Parts: sequence; structure tokens; C-alpha cells
Amino acid sequence: MRSITAQLVLEAIAGADVINALRYRDHDRCRYCGRDLSQAAGRDWHIDHVVPVCQGGRGGLDNLVMACWRCNLRKGGRTPEQAGMPLMESGRG
Ligand SMILES: [Zn+2]
Repeated sequence: MRSITAQLVLEAIAGADVINALRYRDHDRCRYCGRDLSQAAGRDWHIDHVVPVCQGGRGGLDNLVMACWRCNLRKGGRTPEQAGMPLMESGRG
């Protein structure tokens, strides 16, 4: 089961609507490695800014993707191009 606490923390940061929309669009998968996050503990999946905030990225849905903590950590404050980590297709556009 996903950690309720972690889910609530994420919701406080990003908003429940944003999280639900991301999970639906991205099929509960990491957009960088494709890992299935539907059964992952809340702390194991993150919301990644595709263009990092420190590089002018915004918090809209078009700049947010689901990512596992490994990919989020590896990508850091870089764009997918800078990190050599292209986004996978979400399948729902
Ligand atoms: Zn990943």
C-alpha cells in the first residue's frame, strides 16, 4: 500500500488534482525508466519538474512528470537533454 502520509505531503505540495492527473496520464510509471510505481511506497516516487525550477521551469502539468526516486535523484537540477534521460511516452498524451 502506498503511504498515506507521503501521499498527503505530496498533495500539500502539488495538490491532489495535480497528482491524480499525473498518475492517470503517466500510468503510475516513471517517465524516465518506465518503472511501475503503482505499488511503490509514497517516498519512492516523486514528481519531477521536466525543466527544473532553477532553470525557469514552472509547476504546470505540462512541466511535471512522475519519476521514481532514483531517476529524480540522478536527473537533479538538469533538463532531460542535459541529463541524457529522454522522457518516455506517457501513452495518454
Ligand atoms: Zn525511474
